[in-house]
Amino acid sequence: MQKGKINVKADNIFPIIKKFLYSDHEIFLRELISNAVDATQKLKTLSIAGDYKDEMGDLTIRVSLDEKNKTITVSDRGVGMTGEEIKKYINEIAFSSAEDFIQKYKDHASGIIGHFGLGFYSSFMVAKRVDILTKSYKKGTKPVKWSCDGSPEYSIEEIEKETRGTDVVLHIDDDSKEFLDENRIHGLLKKYCKFLPIEIAFGKEKEWKDGKEVETGKDRIINNVKPAWTRKPSELKEEDYLEFYKELYPFSEDPLFHIHLNVDYPFNLTGILYFPKIKKNIELQKNKIQLYCNQVFVTDSVEGIVPEFLTLLHGVIDSPDIPLNVSRSYLQSDSNVKKISSHITKKVADKLMEIFKNNREEFENKWEDLKIFIQYGMLTEDKFYDKAKDFSLFRNTEDNYFTFDEYEKLIKDNQTDKDKNLVYLYSTDVEKQYSFIEAAKSKGYDVIAMEGQLDTHFINHLETKFENSRFVRVDADVVDKLIPKDESKESKLSKEEQDDLTDVFAAQLPEKPVFSVVFESMDENESPVTITQSEFMRRMKDMSEMGGGMNFYGDMPDNYNLVVNPNHELVQRISKEKTEALGEELKRISEKINPVEESKQELEKANKDKKEEEISQEEKDRLEEMEKKINELQNKRKEALTGFGKENKLVKQLIDLALLSNNMLKGEDLSRFVRRSIELI
Ligand code: ADP
Ligand code: MG
Repeated sequence: MQKGKINVKADNIFPIIKKFLYSDHEIFLRELISNAVDATQKLKTLSIAGDYKDEMGDLTIRVSLDEKNKTITVSDRGVGMTGEEIKKYINEIAFSSAEDFIQKYKDHASGIIGHFGLGFYSSFMVAKRVDILTKSYKKGTKPVKWSCDGSPEYSIEEIEKETRGTDVVLHIDDDSKEFLDENRIHGLLKKYCKFLPIEIAFGKEKEWKDGKEVETGKDRIINNVKPAWTRKPSELKEEDYLEFYKELYPFSEDPLFHIHLNVDYPFNLTGILYFPKIKKNIELQKNKIQLYCNQVFVTDSVEGIVPEFLTLLHGVIDSPDIPLNVSRSYLQSDSNVKKISSHITKKVADKLMEIFKNNREEFENKWEDLKIFIQYGMLTEDKFYDKAKDFSLFRNTEDNYFTFDEYEKLIKDNQTDKDKNLVYLYSTDVEKQYSFIEAAKSKGYDVIAMEGQLDTHFINHLETKFENSRFVRVDADVVDKLIPKDESKESKLSKEEQDDLTDVFAAQLPEKPVFSVVFESMDENESPVTITQSEFMRRMKDMSEMGGGMNFYGDMPDNYNLVVNPNHELVQRISKEKTEALGEELKRISEKINPVEESKQELEKANKDKKEEEISQEEKDRLEEMEKKINELQNKRKEALTGFGKENKLVKQLIDLALLSNNMLKGEDLSRFVRRSIELI
């Protein structure tokens, strides 16, 4: 037996290895198995090249657990190592790279967790001694056993070994006993080795016999050696992609479609991304993409590697070019990673464009599910916006789909306002805003359905992108005012009559929310009474609800307009009834007001150019007296009108109808309305 000392500066790097990678000890298994896979692949390459001429035999990599002797063994039938090679690769190269690694990253220990770089020496995280028993494929060389107990001293001796290849035996440390558990090891193999290219056997297949689980004679193979992403797209059918999806996410609904990534220049990247069917909460759906490095699982948190919006996708990305032994912040600034990220964005956009172009019908059918990815992407990545603006769709309230360009053409003639702005009308709830949508349609307007999770943000975003355009919710105003044009309509009621009716209608309005009565001259066929809420106020309130830091608006009471159409027959009827009931009385009051008003105006005119101190106290008192008188009379007038309004069933009925069509009539008010309607009939 030979003894030697591994040549390192640090006296003992093993405690450091243990300490720094404390929370990530489990990766030792991934490292040992990747080495076994590498050694096997090398043998296959030699065999293909004709440099290895013997039988290769069964190349299965075997993992075995000996709970009694507290060992885990990884055996391969790969190239093996000669004594010289062990000295070179294990003692010198592997050791010094492990040491470099620690030197380099000891300040960012948490950043490197889960990533490559430590290789063979990571076995000392869990083992108090490691033996390597190996026989090289090279003829005439002697099998050797290398052994090291975690100090820089090692021993190496010749041994008898029948089969070519390497057994790495870990003598598990007392504080790592957790790894001497079959389920734990099986779990780790499933996590890291599920798609490695050489078969890995761990124990035997089990089956149920006489109510008991018993081992069969068949090896239990952990992995799928040829996962779909490593195959050529031309070899794969739709079912293969679906099957692979089920392999990755056994309990998920079928995805919408997939994108097969296959790049070899300027970096190496393969993978399959799936657009999943997304349910309610998009936050919960993130972190489903798995990142692999040559088929070895690395991580499933891919922020920084793919653009934020793509973290909603599912699937795998495999790249040997993503530097894995570095911290996350470094990763995000790495230029290779940036290129990969923008490449994936481009690929995703191209694929969507392709489906849109080749099969618009399918695209439209899937739009409601796709929309959230596309909008999220357009909101967060300008580059994606630039591509997606050509296939992103608007769905109108009649379920027709339009691209942005098509839609602009559709509404250009009819929905341009007097200031040459294009007005996009939208509805956030097609059912609730039904009457407004109907009114808009009757004017020949088109209304977009914007009922999705991100639509409010999306509208704000589009307004920054579309020139000379704005979005207005269809119930933001009466239809004639939604898109202001020059033509203004005459009112069939005079200013005084409108003022009177303002009090009459106000008498019947609910106390909450706050309403103001306004008159808007419209066509006689338009609704007599409508309820609207200003676009600005509503958006501010919506944003404060979503936590946009606009609490000021959130705290304001809801403010609505009760819009009365003076040209509607029913409104005129109310005006007439009012005159019949109160005409004489109002006339008397007016006759009293008028002379006072006149003398007040005269006095004010006379005093117009005077300074405050030039007006006599007597005059000031007289003025005050007159104002008081006028106020009194006006209050009387108002009282009369309010009294009339309160008694008037038609007024109440019209207001309730307007409330009803806005879904604002509830409970007792609703049942009273129904009763009153029956009476009126
Ligand atoms: P890396 O795999 O990155 O080269 P490791 O520390 O994991 O670094 O391994 C160091 C070297 O030891 C490998 O490059 C290889 O030459 C040799 N080696 C490790 N395990 C095996 C094995 N099972 N069979 C043959 N050679 C091995
Ligand atoms: Mg390795």
